[in-house]
Amino acid sequence: MLVISDSAEMQRQALAWRAEGRRIAVVPTMGALHEGHRSLIRIARARAERVIVTLFVNPTQFGPGEDFDRYPRCFERDRAMCEADGVDAVFAPSVAAMYAPDHSTWVEETTLSRGLCGASRPGHFRGVATVVVKLFMLTQPHLAVFGEKDAQQLRVVRRVVRDLNLPVEIVAAPTVREADGLAMSSRNAYLTPNERRQAVALRRALDEAERRFAAGEREAAALREAIAAMIRRLAPAATPDYIEIVDDETLEPIDTVDRPALVAIAVRFPSARLIDNTVLRPAGGAR
Ligand code: AMP
Repeated sequence: MLVISDSAEMQRQALAWRAEGRRIAVVPTMGALHEGHRSLIRIARARAERVIVTLFVNPTQFGPGEDFDRYPRCFERDRAMCEADGVDAVFAPSVAAMYAPDHSTWVEETTLSRGLCGASRPGHFRGVATVVVKLFMLTQPHLAVFGEKDAQQLRVVRRVVRDLNLPVEIVAAPTVREADGLAMSSRNAYLTPNERRQAVALRRALDEAERRFAAGEREAAALREAIAAMIRRLAPAATPDYIEIVDDETLEPIDTVDRPALVAIAVRFPSARLIDNTVLRPAGGAR
């Protein structure tokens, strides 16, 4: 397995694989790999001849006061995991290797990025879109795998790829969960034992919304209240950041679930902010 930290070297290697006619998949990550990331790597492995995993804690997607400095970094462990999973190259650049001191070019998606995490984390998706396009230029992938766990990110990346005509297929991977339902996340490591017990509330709340939807509830307000009540009950230490039901394509809030709807939640525990989501699909809906 190649371990590359230099941007020009990464691009040379990717172009060499392209010249040999190899199909390249990239899995962009911020490291601190867990089973969620590994599932993405397996999907990439099954679909491409060369798999590149990028490990980069991207400063431009963190706001002031967010967790950039304390974000877990465990390169040796990540490297070993990638090697065990048959990855062909790990690209782990420094911040300086990715951003010139006078970097001044940004990729900004201006519609899907506005609500949900975009509202609570101004500038976050501009950082994500910019680094994803840069990583695509450096790794020259035919396809890239992203997790449904970060539902808004996945939709923003698809929109950027469409709008900028990037020749990259975006593959979505289902959310991998702990035994109690908590979506795996590198940030779960921040949780205190008490918060960790309460964190199951996110998935339980989504289960409750799914159950009511299956029983015929279509009013977004009622579904949102059911989610809020479950979080209040199971996670008293948490403050909801948002509980939203939005059109799955436009990410605009909807009143009635008469078309595929993304149910997205974010809650803040004292030690970590967690997100989760599900999609509700009415049978015979408009889409
Ligand atoms: P991150 O390292 O958190 O930036 O995540 C890198 C990629 O892994 C993103 O596409 C995430 O959506 C995806 N991912 C993170 N956690 C999970 C999970 N529990 N299940 C599936 N994919 C995930």
